[in-house]
Amino acid sequence: MEQVKPFSDDRIRQACVYCGGAIGTRDHVPSRVLLDEPFPDNLPVVDACSGCNSGFSDDEMYVACLVDVVQASIADPDLVPRKKIGRILREQTLLRDKLARARHVNDGVVSFDVESARVRNVLLKLARGHAAFELDERRRGEPVRVTMIPLAALAPAARAAFETPPLVSVFPEVGSRAMQRMSVASVTLMAAEDPSRAVEKQLILGADWIQVQRNRYRYLAVALDSGELVVRIVLSEYLCCEVIWN
Ligand SMILES: [Zn+2]
Repeated sequence: MEQVKPFSDDRIRQACVYCGGAIGTRDHVPSRVLLDEPFPDNLPVVDACSGCNSGFSDDEMYVACLVDVVQASIADPDLVPRKKIGRILREQTLLRDKLARARHVNDGVVSFDVESARVRNVLLKLARGHAAFELDERRRGEPVRVTMIPLAALAPAARAAFETPPLVSVFPEVGSRAMQRMSVASVTLMAAEDPSRAVEKQLILGADWIQVQRNRYRYLAVALDSGELVVRIVLSEYLCCEVIWN
């Protein structure tokens, strides 16, 4: 990945990005269980307390395995898409059994009981990490919305809206990575009935998807003109998620 160093105020980076506690470690966002070896260079890292750094591991492993097991339609280490998840399922027999028990077949259709609180916990943590890393924005409170859905379940219009980075005209936090990634385009908006009423508007380009690892993990983090903060995440081109804070 391209390395972009922030040069914003250090004082806002002196607390765990997840809980605000005393920092003791640096946490990878996304965590490595969601990626395959060899890992990309320059993985995003954020300051975290040791409790948060280790506290999400079980849920992250659950989500990584769930995404593969659902894609394979079965909790079989030999049939899941990722070799790494196959290894984990062989070693973590309790988790494998849990996922096997979560599988149901009705009229030939396979479905899984999903522990959605754990999935939400992981996606919210990831979104907080991306907001901190990209935008220098701390969002420790509850978001107004968390949406999680398989990418394939989105209708075409919803899919297009999800994939398209929102256009913004306010600048991100000065010095943040998002600020450095952006470029500014000047567009002229004209009223069709009266071309003399043209309005010059500055649009910021650069709030775009960041590919951490192809087919494995990508995200987009953007602060909208309305003040809302939006983070979108796609795991394994299978599960997509959007988190919105006021
Ligand atoms: Zn913490």
